[in-house]
Amino acid sequence: MIIVLMGAPGAGKGTQADLLSERAGYRKISTGDALRKHVKLGTQVGKQAGEIMARGELVPDNVLLQVLKEELGSNPKEIVILDGYPRNLAQAETLKEVVEGVHPVVCCAHLDVRRDDIIARLSGRRTCSGCGASFHVSANPPKKQGVCDKCGSNLIQRPDDDAKSIAVRLDVYDKATEPVLDYYRKRNLYNRVNGGGQTDQIFGDLKGVINSCLK
Ligand SMILES: [Zn+2]
Repeated sequence: MIIVLMGAPGAGKGTQADLLSERAGYRKISTGDALRKHVKLGTQVGKQAGEIMARGELVPDNVLLQVLKEELGSNPKEIVILDGYPRNLAQAETLKEVVEGVHPVVCCAHLDVRRDDIIARLSGRRTCSGCGASFHVSANPPKKQGVCDKCGSNLIQRPDDDAKSIAVRLDVYDKATEPVLDYYRKRNLYNRVNGGGQTDQIFGDLKGVINSCLK
């Protein structure tokens, strides 16, 4: 059974997917991670994807879906949290066709966070230029401003983490995923989860939604 976890960049989807895996024992599949793994292992589909990525092109849907199929395997009892897929309507439709028999989608949980909050979260991110550790100017500030707690290197803001670039990223995401949310609404699988507030509170709400889907 597949739980599709939706949420804009910065909505905290990765964090919640990790918690669901740690605390509830669900298997988390992130298409990004799965893709990197297959490229690294040099599987047939991984080689194909690697060549496309090396050319700087986007991996097409059919290759992504192949990676996903291999990751999903054939255990119909397993509860899978799908993170990062589907990202557009075409992917939602092919996902149904390809995996429905073994892994039906039983829930679409949408972590909904106000746009202003997302922009505040993402634009406050600071990354260490030395060790890559990440901080946040208000939520997780370093002891000394602009300096990494771990290694003492300078903290930098990634060039695409300014408010303007974030807004563009969110627009692109919304435009592609609105039809996906509608798709699941029409099938009575859509559930909104308030993604604002504390991590544990959000986790509780999310788990409640998933429990009711699994009944
Ligand atoms: Zn550092």
